[in-house]
Amino acid sequence: MCAQIHDTTHITYESLLEGNQKFIDKSLALDPQYFEKLANGQKPPILWIGCADSRVPANQITNTQPGEIFVHRNIANMVIHTDMNMLSVLDYAVNVLKVKHVIVTGHYGCGGVMAAMSNKEFGLIDNWLRHIKDVYRIYAEQLDRITDEHERTNRLVELNVVENVYNLCKTSIVQNAWSAGQELAVHGWVYSIETGKIKDMGVSTRNNENMDEVFRFSPPAP
Ligand SMILES: [Zn+2]
Repeated sequence: MCAQIHDTTHITYESLLEGNQKFIDKSLALDPQYFEKLANGQKPPILWIGCADSRVPANQITNTQPGEIFVHRNIANMVIHTDMNMLSVLDYAVNVLKVKHVIVTGHYGCGGVMAAMSNKEFGLIDNWLRHIKDVYRIYAEQLDRITDEHERTNRLVELNVVENVYNLCKTSIVQNAWSAGQELAVHGWVYSIETGKIKDMGVSTRNNENMDEVFRFSPPAP
């Protein structure tokens, strides 16, 4: 039996608004003050940096609710140092919301990573994908040894998450939080769309002690 793509033909512009009403009814049935409480403000302990892929929604795959995860998503869950969007989200999450964890979540079978591994020209997006090619270059020796293309792509997915965790740690936003003694951990996860399971890449970082010297900001003078 060949794999079938999830049927989305019933999803229309109108059906989304009907879905919204069902969401309201369901939420109020559980808690009549549901929206009043949410409207009072947010205090999410987590910032999620994930892929824009429709199959990897932060809340659903972690069984969390509105108000519990602050989310930034882009193609292939990248942390690019000139990306004002990502930096603004990170700054707000760390310095205003005071999140305790930032999680970069990639996923196996990522279209962005697959595109970056090919030699095809896709247009504007090539400028974004080049950052993934840079990750490949760092780990080329290891990746080139993997003969199975599917396996090689999945390994690059994992290494891309690891590198983007390092990229987060290098930002002045994260390093300043650490030097101020703020509780903040940065983590890397990879989600399997095939099984629904999250793999922790084991690169959780809570300080800049193991960071390459050139990226490290010295602590402010006492
Ligand atoms: Zn993806």
